[in-house]
Amino acid sequence: MTHDDPPALPEFDRRPPVTDKAVQYRIYRVGTGAGLRIVCLSPDLLGIHTHWIGGGTRPCLSGGVCLPCQHGVRRDWHAWVTGYDPTNGHIRIVELTENAAGPPARWIDSTGTLRGARLTLRRPGGRKTSPLVSEVEAGSVPAELLPPDADRVRCLLRLWRLPDTHLAAISTSDLSGISLKLREA
Ligand SMILES: [Zn+2]
Repeated sequence: MTHDDPPALPEFDRRPPVTDKAVQYRIYRVGTGAGLRIVCLSPDLLGIHTHWIGGGTRPCLSGGVCLPCQHGVRRDWHAWVTGYDPTNGHIRIVELTENAAGPPARWIDSTGTLRGARLTLRRPGGRKTSPLVSEVEAGSVPAELLPPDADRVRCLLRLWRLPDTHLAAISTSDLSGISLKLREA
């Protein structure tokens, strides 16, 4: 650089940088404490059969390639819903058991969407293995004023360390038919 070159100038932005914020949300599992009350941001349930391995849920991979299935590991169904906690402003992706997904599924059947509804989750049995129960009520905040839903699929794939290029098909509309299929690598 000679003294004739113009000095380098900083480049200003008119908008904050685009970050992958949607995939930063953690998966939240309701424990034995006071439970959790959220306002649902997701319109629907996103569910899949899972195996409990190494202290967490892992997806059951269909198509005869699932190692836990081949070894007889128990298979359970879980669903995930994004929720806003009005007491602290946190947005969380909350894990539901098949049992706890029943009331939200019926709510969706009767109203068309879960978004904006209030979901209460607790384990009344007091143990970590006690069944999770849920209750859904109408919310008081109009859905259009709520924050957007998080990208649950990408959050889960990141959690499970699966590349999202392997994602072949997602169906989220029907509780009985919900599946997240992963292509064979
Ligand atoms: Zn499996």
